Amino acid sequence: MPTAASGPTRSITSTSWDRPRRRAIVVGGSLAGLCAALALSASGWEVTILEQSTQPPAGMGMSIDVALLSAVTGLDMRALPVIETGFPATGWGLLRQALADAVERQPRIDLREGVRALAVVDGQTDVVVETNAGMHRAEFVVGADGYASTVRRLVSPEEPHAEYGGVVLWRGLVDESDIPGGFTTRDIGFAFRPAGTQMLATYVIPGARGELDPGHRRGVFISFDCSRDALLRRDGYVNGTVVKATVHGSGLSRTEIEDLHHETRQWPAPWGRAAAIAVRERAFIGTPIAEFLPSRLVRGRVAILGDAAHSVSPITGGGFHNGLLDVASLVSALDETPDVTRALRRYEEHRLAPVRALVTRSRAWSRSFVRSDPCG
Ligand SMILES: Cc1cc2nc3c(=O)[nH]c(=O)nc-3n(C[C@H](O)[C@H](O)[C@H](O)COP(=O)(O)OP(=O)(O)OC[C@H]3O[C@@H](n4cnc5c(N)ncnc54)[C@H](O)[C@@H]3O)c2cc1C
Repeated sequence: MPTAASGPTRSITSTSWDRPRRRAIVVGGSLAGLCAALALSASGWEVTILEQSTQPPAGMGMSIDVALLSAVTGLDMRALPVIETGFPATGWGLLRQALADAVERQPRIDLREGVRALAVVDGQTDVVVETNAGMHRAEFVVGADGYASTVRRLVSPEEPHAEYGGVVLWRGLVDESDIPGGFTTRDIGFAFRPAGTQMLATYVIPGARGELDPGHRRGVFISFDCSRDALLRRDGYVNGTVVKATVHGSGLSRTEIEDLHHETRQWPAPWGRAAAIAVRERAFIGTPIAEFLPSRLVRGRVAILGDAAHSVSPITGGGFHNGLLDVASLVSALDETPDVTRALRRYEEHRLAPVRALVTRSRAWSRSFVRSDPCG
């Protein structure tokens, strides 16, 4: 299979050549962090990515704007496998792997895995990131470290936490080969409807190796459930208004599994049966929705982007999309001036209002869902 990302499509600008040894640190090596590193390196920066984990988590599916992704990263991403579901949909793992492969080929990017940022200090000369594996220094730091961002504590110490939105998403993947007769045309398109006491979103994505042919694809189910507050709080997944952890099927009691299994009986075909298998096998996860409404995106020479800057419910369909817009804005501001502090301020001026609008939409939806029948 061809690799999803090939060749740079963006030429390095003349301003980039003026600063061949300038270094940036990106904290977080997931989708937004990898895109930020690729875009910065295409613009002439040396980039160190600090990623705490050594194994990417198992993601599910997502909408993708391939043209925007290619423009932002400077790579031709047209080989990324997508299925048209009302929007082009791909697998999270396929996208992450394509970005990681591109990073691997890029000599100006140094990806350090197993390195956890503990604190960020905007010092006299450099910005310093203290980690479990020593200090890292750079001219500026980008926090792409997700909804529980550490970098955000420096940028926004007065409001460092994303807030629990009152909803948990039960989500899983189903192999088409487990569905008798496979997916119909109707199953493939994105659908969002009431299912029992929950709201259910479903659509189809390529197979784990990018397969697009019938019989080899995967179905995504995401159910929005507002009735699990007691469970989430009792077992420490949510503490006060702060989301602490993802729920893994393996961590639930037999009664809770039975309860979720019972719910899936009220789901439409083929999703109910498929989800029932995932629940029985405990092959699903629960993500308490975390929402973060930023008042700022930058402090000095430190910026946040992606979910670190604007955690939202997937109902917006725009978390990663806005992360890409953040990266585009940041790199374009840095291309315009050698003054990093000024460039980061421009980035904030450009992105703060749109991302606040995104999070406000997300919160409004979560609040109205939590107040609706059968939640309210
Ligand atoms: C069910 C679901 C469906 C979605 N569908 C869509 C969609 O269709 N379209 C869309 O645009 N968006 C969608 N999203 C949102 C999208 O998935 C996220 O916005 C995106 O993945 C966030 O990427 P990120 O890199 O900003 O954050 P994350 O993926 O959270 O990555 C943060 C990274 O930082 C690392 N990290 C954290 N702390 C530290 C530290 N202290 N030191 C070092 N590393 C650290 C983490 O290990 C992680 O790798 C969906 C989300 C969900 C849950």
